[in-house]
Amino acid sequence: MKTLIKNGTVVTAGETFKSDLLIEEGVITSMAQGMSEEGADEVIDAAGLLVMPGGIDPHTHLDMPFGGTSSSDDFFTGHKAAAFGGTTCHIDFAIQQKGKTMVDAIQEWKKKAVGKAAVDYGFHVALTDPVDSSIEEIPELLKEGVSSLKIFMAYKGAFQVDDTTFLKALKKSAEHGLTTMVHAENGDAIALLTEELLAEGKNAMGYHNVAHSAAIEAEATARAVSFVEMTNAPLYIVHIACEDGLEAVRKGRAKGLPVMGETCVQYTHITDDWIDTEDFEGAKYICSPPPKGEDDKAAVWKALRDGTVQTVATDHCPFWFEGGKDGRIPGKELGKESWVKVPNGVPGIEDRFPVMWHLGVNSGKISPNRFVEVTSTNAAKIFGMYPQKGSVSVGAHADLVLFDPEMEHTISAETHHMNVDYNCYEGMTVKGWPKQVMVRGKTLVKDGEWLGEEGYGAFVSRDADNEIL
Ligand SMILES: [Zn+2]
Repeated sequence: MKTLIKNGTVVTAGETFKSDLLIEEGVITSMAQGMSEEGADEVIDAAGLLVMPGGIDPHTHLDMPFGGTSSSDDFFTGHKAAAFGGTTCHIDFAIQQKGKTMVDAIQEWKKKAVGKAAVDYGFHVALTDPVDSSIEEIPELLKEGVSSLKIFMAYKGAFQVDDTTFLKALKKSAEHGLTTMVHAENGDAIALLTEELLAEGKNAMGYHNVAHSAAIEAEATARAVSFVEMTNAPLYIVHIACEDGLEAVRKGRAKGLPVMGETCVQYTHITDDWIDTEDFEGAKYICSPPPKGEDDKAAVWKALRDGTVQTVATDHCPFWFEGGKDGRIPGKELGKESWVKVPNGVPGIEDRFPVMWHLGVNSGKISPNRFVEVTSTNAAKIFGMYPQKGSVSVGAHADLVLFDPEMEHTISAETHHMNVDYNCYEGMTVKGWPKQVMVRGKTLVKDGEWLGEEGYGAFVSRDADNEIL
């Protein structure tokens, strides 16, 4: 199968140029202007369109057990939604269970995806059992195609591990070329504050913000950066949402430490007051860390511009707002009585790419090239998939978005494809929309029509010893 894409404008992390593309067996085999249509099975006219690498979301939770229920998107519904929004690859988290190995977790998550996946995917693994055998197991993860390991400094009594385990994991991962990732919030402080708030009968949604304040995030982030200073081991801090946390990363990077940062699309738009509502509506936006104030939101944009953060993810972890009925699994309504019982997470896998374009590029906050860098290329580099993924170049997978920068689309839960009954960007009219989306040369979405198939998506085995950006 030979596909020729003609007359498009290619936008990569580094440059913008006119080029046709020839795709053979899912791989870009030639790029030049004015290529002949002879021998092509399919010719796509991309005049007026931008040809960009498909989005890579480095942080998602599909089909994840949490708080007595599970995230509502599985590896098919989540993937279909991702494709409609221009995301062609993502990295999900396999979570170790206490008493089991991390390899067990990876195998369990692979089973969730096989036969359902529609876009390509990889896995990080979360180390949650702080025993020596977990540390010793780290090099084995590479054999499973997993080159990144996550540590939780929060969720005491569940996922959280102590600083000793964190330090040991950092060192061991670095020795073997794996990248450590961390959820940076102080779990001990959250647990104490939660206990105090509940004892005082403070159950309204807004108290989630009090128990997960900027100070709690900033303290853990600064501590994590100090651990990088002690070990010189590469660390990627996930979902940074506050100015002081970003400042800690900025200072670490200024010292030349191998510390990298991720933010999420919701932190570029949503603020803490969306959670702090009189009614239950605020539960929709409860996630950890929660979005913070206007100054923090401005700091997130600044960090995206100045390179303090390298990626923008979603932490996609959807829960029904009105779950537990009409065949739906339980969702946010589990927390009707108190913020503490609200499953933590927001949907976004479908929205990230167009929302970032609209809020970032259309407003002039970031350039189209920086957009490609933070939504795709940098994740591919940091996590060992580049240049196969995250680039438009000869030899790369034809994971492409043919993007119409003039097309307007109003985002709504009525029309989105995520398996959830609300959208964080409800009513937002974005300018710029994916007209056609391909994974390894196969068109999954064209003009709003689904052409993909369950089971097409492939596991991406990721390399070790990656670039520190
Ligand atoms: Zn997460």
